[in-house]
This record gives sequence, C-alpha cells and structure tokens, in this order.
Amino acid sequence: MNTYSRLPVTFVKGEGVWLWDDCGERYLDALAGVAVCGLGHCHPRLTKAICEQAGKLIHTSNLYHIEKQEQLAERLTGLSGMDNAFFCNSGAEANEAAIKLARLYGHNKGISLPTIIVMERSFHGRTMATLTASGNRKVQAGFEPLLTGFVRVPYNNMEAITQVAVNNKDIVAVLVEPFQGEGGVNIPEAHYLQALRNLCDQYGWLLMLDEVQSGIGRSGKWFAFQHSNIIPDVMTLAKGLGAGVAIGACLAKGIAAEVFKPGNHASTFGGNPLACAAALETLMVINEEDLLNHVTKLGDFMRDGLRHQLQDVSGVVQIRGQGLIIGIELSMPCGELVKKALEKKLLINVTSDKVIRLLPAFVMQQAEAEQVIDITCSLIREFLNG
Ligand SMILES: *Cc1c(COP(=O)(O)O)cnc(C)c1O
Repeated sequence: MNTYSRLPVTFVKGEGVWLWDDCGERYLDALAGVAVCGLGHCHPRLTKAICEQAGKLIHTSNLYHIEKQEQLAERLTGLSGMDNAFFCNSGAEANEAAIKLARLYGHNKGISLPTIIVMERSFHGRTMATLTASGNRKVQAGFEPLLTGFVRVPYNNMEAITQVAVNNKDIVAVLVEPFQGEGGVNIPEAHYLQALRNLCDQYGWLLMLDEVQSGIGRSGKWFAFQHSNIIPDVMTLAKGLGAGVAIGACLAKGIAAEVFKPGNHASTFGGNPLACAAALETLMVINEEDLLNHVTKLGDFMRDGLRHQLQDVSGVVQIRGQGLIIGIELSMPCGELVKKALEKKLLINVTSDKVIRLLPAFVMQQAEAEQVIDITCSLIREFLNG
C-alpha cells in the first residue's frame, strides 16, 4: 500500500556501517535502520547465530516452553533488575502489552475507567492504543475515534503532572520515554525520572518506560533509566533488541509483574526461538565487544565535533543527545536534507520537521564518525546559507 514516501534507493548488501545499492554504490549509514541495527549490518556473529538457530528450530508457538525465550528473559531481567518479561514482535505491541497491563492493574484495584498519563510530543507506535497514547496529531488524524483512558501533560514538566494527580482518581500509570526520539531527541532534566518515580510511588501508579528507542545500549547504558537511580514498574523494548530481527518485549517488576494471568495476553510469533537467538547474541556481542563504553565515548566525540564545526553557524539552535542518539535542531524545517545527504552517500534522518537525527550503529569507528560529522556539517552550512 501507499504508506511510505520512500527515498529513491534500493540497498542490496550491508557490512558494518556501510550499505551498497543495486548499482554497486556505497553509502555510509548513520541511521542503522532507525535505531535497530546496533551491531551494524550483518555482524558475523549475529548472522551465524541466526543461521545456526534456523537450522535447529525456528518456531513452535507459546503453547510450549521455549528454551531460548527463557534464557532471554533471564538475561534481560538480570541486566535491568526487572522481574519478568512478555515477548512480542514490535515496539507498538510491547506498548500495547504495557497499556493492557496498566488497565488490568487498575481494574484489579477497583478502578473501572483506568487512565494513563502520557506526554506531549511522545511516540509509542501506530496501533490504535499506541497512536492514541502518542503526542503527535499527525499519527492520529483520520483514525478517530481514538481510545479513551489517556490524559496528556507536557514532557519534562513536574508541575503539570502533579496538577493532574490531585484532580484525577482514575489514574493508574504514567507512560513515558526516558528521552524522546521521534519527538525531536528531547532529553529531560537530570532528575525528571526520579521525580516521576516519587510521584508514582506516592499515588500507587505504575511507572512505565518506553525504552523501545532508548534501550539496549543506545544511550550508553543497557537502558536509559540506568542513568538515574530508579527502576520502573514496566519497561518496553523492541528496535535494537534483535538488531534487525523483529522482537519486542514488555518487562515488569514487583506488583506489575503479577498482573497478567494465563489467558490475559498472548502473541503467536512472540519470543520464538529464532528471534530470541538473535536477541541473545545481540546482548552477548554488546557485552563482549564492550560496546556500551564505545557508545558513550563516540556519542560525546560526535556531539563535540558537531558543536565545534557548527558553533558560529546561525540557524543551528541546539546539538543534543545521549550516547548514540544525536539531534541537531535547526531554526527552520529541514526535511530536504535527508535527500541531499543521500546524494552525498550518507544516510541520516530528520524528525519533528527541524531536528536532524543521527542513530549510528554501535560499531561505528571514529574515522567513520568523522566522515558523518564532516558531511552533515557541510550540508547544514550549505542549507542555511543557500
Ligand atoms: C519506534 C518506536 C515505537 C514503535 O515501534 P514499532 O516497532 O515501529 O511498532 C514505540 N516507541 C518508541 C519510543 C519508538 O521509538
């Protein structure tokens, strides 16, 4: 269907941070399949793990125990401090699970119209519940009626959310991204998550973090919440989890981990042996290649480099990010830069109209990062001066 306005290129091969099109032209990839391919393209260990699992067992359904799924749950709960996990196939599905969990949690407490607090400029997916939760009219328009049971507050604003708290007895949870990706690479102030944690504890709400984009190493820690001193009640993952193989997860802790009972939620494909083998190998490679440290260092290096080259360029509003999510906000819409970069054989993204977004693979080397910085800065200068 006509759901995408695609760029005029077809990639047929990938290796590390490089992609080749069907004419044999090579491109430098600073987007990694929109925060998915953290290990770069076709990391030999990931390819091997997928091939080995595909030769052994691909799918059996969740009617039976699945060894690799149990190992993955063990690993993810160990890394995060959460208690258990439900597996699905995408970020939207992971958030659907979280939303259903929060509603059931509310009903179990005798709240018949459970309400979830969501944020302005948030993005949680394209299913009916997740587009309702998203703070972006563009993903909602034309799909009304939306769901009920959500209230929206400004992101990174404790005053507004505290106001809502006093006036609404139906609230059961807060759903929030530790930093906003699609909404323009928005990093909240340092104590925001801690303040939300305190508020949730005070009112008995579930703190539900959408780590679909921020999780699995992107921020320089396994999960972005680990930059603060909290643990959420619910956390959702997808994008980078399978490094290109479709898998999502909803993790829960404490009282939230007890909410779902057999029959409450399910997925046919979710957590099958193939997807879990890919995710397990992804986590292993991130660990063994010490990629979290590399993400932190390379992210700082790239932001420094961008700031240095763009410091005197008027029209550059702010350069921000955490680890290897990098946003460069301009003073005017700059969507056309994506195509201009493509002509220079560089893959970048623009989100929220004015924010150039870089999401490189964790395996990018400094020399490659320098190329990304040089090309991006020359495109920005050209764009703002022309
Ligand atoms: C991409 C994204 C989603 C949606 O994930 P899909 O796999 O496309 O359904 C949800 N939340 C956040 C924060 C995302 O970045």
